[in-house]
Amino acid sequence: MNEILSLKDVVIDYDRNGEKVRAVAGVDLGLRPGEILGLVGESGCGKSTLGKAMVGILKVTEGEITFDGERVKKLTRGRRPKHFRNLQMIFQDPYGSLNPRRKIGVQVIDGLLVGGMRKSLALLKAAELLAKVGLPEDAVDRFPHQFSGGQRQRIAIARALAASTTVLIADEPISALDTSSQAQVANLLVDLVHEFKMGMVFISHDLSIVRRISDRVAVMYLGKIVEIGTTSQIWENPSHPYTRALVSAIPHADGASFMPSDLPGDVPNPMNPPSGCRFHPRCQLALPKCTTEEPQFVTLTDNREVSCFLQREGESPASITL
Ligand code: SF4
Repeated sequence: MNEILSLKDVVIDYDRNGEKVRAVAGVDLGLRPGEILGLVGESGCGKSTLGKAMVGILKVTEGEITFDGERVKKLTRGRRPKHFRNLQMIFQDPYGSLNPRRKIGVQVIDGLLVGGMRKSLALLKAAELLAKVGLPEDAVDRFPHQFSGGQRQRIAIARALAASTTVLIADEPISALDTSSQAQVANLLVDLVHEFKMGMVFISHDLSIVRRISDRVAVMYLGKIVEIGTTSQIWENPSHPYTRALVSAIPHADGASFMPSDLPGDVPNPMNPPSGCRFHPRCQLALPKCTTEEPQFVTLTDNREVSCFLQREGESPASITL
């Protein structure tokens, strides 16, 4: 199937105190229309940086990102070219993306007015969209501070819907919410993605929720994708040692206990990444060549892609003992 959002060999550098940090170190990734792609990894692995580049908030240093066939460029003063209005992002902190001095209705109609709708009609439509995300009728006339965190995230979602979004980048959209709001907002997102036939990249460190809502999952480690597969492939038969460690660390289905993760240490500093396979200092299965050579992506028989010397092209994970 064609990809509506496509990343080819994307590298993103930024400057930290005069030193170059490579936050994203060569990522190939594709989102198909209507699918939910989970992007997971520990804090600091580059997944949020990658998400911001997908919508043009951050500049790509090398490689390219295309949306619906056109190259995504960095936004100039927040202005979004017409072609990219259907590519939207929601953030962990919805309050930061709302103007505290503007009424909610006015903020939601921006996307409708840009699309050429009359203001009176746009306000009616905004009220309809706010009701759709579960907010009260009078929400259009209220200000952001009058809502809870979960409600503000619903406003951000309504605003994305007003822009006729076809691809939504959701960056940790529920991690700042209280427990009861988390499930509600996640369910709302999934329902709307299906109803409006959007594609969504769901960025999260919470593997439990990614497992529940995603069609496919990409696992990121220190600026690189190390494994991509369907959600059932990733959870039932994880292939990369890092994926295995992540999966072993999530709660059992009955919620009774956590299995111990075998993963020692923290994510290394991206300013000084390890040589060879970036995961080798934490990998209990590392081979001598893992310290000097970088593994390439291979496609396994079940169509998943993995970057690890223990995996060989054309072999299924089940035939390999890690
Ligand atoms: Fe471990 Fe080597 Fe595979 Fe990297 S390439 S994950 S160090 S076995």
